[in-house]
Amino acid sequence: MAMTQEVREPHMHAEAEYFTLPSGHKIPSVGLGTWRSGSDAAKSVFTAITKAGYRHVDTAKEYGVQEEIGEGLKAAMQAGIAREDLFITSKLWCSDLAPDRVKYALKNTLKELQLDYLDLYLVHWPFRLKDGAHRPPEAGEVLEFDMEGVWKEMENLVRDGLVKDIGVCNYTVKKLNRLLSFAQIKPSVCQMEMHPGWRNDKMLEACKKHGIHATAYSPLGSGERDLIHDPVVTRVANKVNRTPGQVLIKWAIQRGTSVIPKSSHEERINENIQSMQIRFCLNGLLFERKSRVRTELFWVNSLFFYKLQIFLISSPTSNHIISNIFDYLIFFVCNSSFHSYENNSNDLKSTNKVIHYQKIYPLKVKTQIMQHLTDLKFSMI
Ligand code: NAP
Repeated sequence: MAMTQEVREPHMHAEAEYFTLPSGHKIPSVGLGTWRSGSDAAKSVFTAITKAGYRHVDTAKEYGVQEEIGEGLKAAMQAGIAREDLFITSKLWCSDLAPDRVKYALKNTLKELQLDYLDLYLVHWPFRLKDGAHRPPEAGEVLEFDMEGVWKEMENLVRDGLVKDIGVCNYTVKKLNRLLSFAQIKPSVCQMEMHPGWRNDKMLEACKKHGIHATAYSPLGSGERDLIHDPVVTRVANKVNRTPGQVLIKWAIQRGTSVIPKSSHEERINENIQSMQIRFCLNGLLFERKSRVRTELFWVNSLFFYKLQIFLISSPTSNHIISNIFDYLIFFVCNSSFHSYENNSNDLKSTNKVIHYQKIYPLKVKTQIMQHLTDLKFSMI
């Protein structure tokens, strides 16, 4: 790959550049996300490392871009970046969540990335899927997950020197406690969705309590939930004279989490890592109201129409806030399914029941609810 550019040193201020993991290894504060980076992956990785000064790249077998990322990493190393200065994360996919498949899956990932070790290997989701399972899975496609057996194999990867640190993604507090009850090597990192609209406070607190580092994914809203154009975020960004993306990334870092924004555009790749250069603390209170609304919505579930009415009646809302609430509700309805699998996956029967139920009802119910919300939204504004 012809990717020759001037290699830039990582940013200078050491205190904001890394967090120290329980193992003593250091994880860079800002890494490059690679989900949905497609054919741009090699170029993005190379640009991020050699031009923008990134040292952490986050990927996964499931993203289907590990070979491209391997090309980008190889080119960056040929341009003079040392392997030991890079921090490369990948993840064990749900269909490989069986003790006898862990090492094989890791070796395959290493081959695709053209590396001989990973800095961090994460369990991608805490439920096991049948090979070739549908997306989303259908009834019977979620299998028994031997959490202890899989974790023992993850620990063996560390002992064998194939992986420096191990961790998990998308765990609940309950599942984390279960893991901690038998882990001989504690997870170093827990990766989860976190941004001002979904703070994930409970999990973050649990991680802090156990000395586990947390990494925030989808920090910009993942392109689907437009946090970049969110009025609260925009207002804060204007106030501190930075871009909305930088404000969102800084928000994550100042909570003590590392963060892995994805971009395939050079100017945004640059913009995102420059968040580390914001030397002052953002006023967290500016985000409070938005966070409360979002968290509330996550809990309302079947009662949400009732609670929504109470909320609307009891709040001194403006049209603008009402509009925001509806946007969140619509998002919530659309995105609740994955969380249902996860929350129920301790009990296979109930998981498959949820999937069965969602298979019959989802589109109809979701479409009706969304239509209802959208109509209501427009009739109230
Ligand atoms: P994200 O980083 O929150 O958002 C990415 C989106 O924002 C893309 O559409 C990107 O577009 C756009 N963007 C990036 N920088 C921007 C900026 N400065 N201004 C405006 N728009 C900007 O979403 P994500 O990809 O979901 O999450 C980040 C990473 O976390 C993933 O790539 C993946 O590595 C990891 N992740 C892990 C899990 C897990 O289960 N462990 C789940 C989800 C994500 P362009 O590319 O066009 O710039």
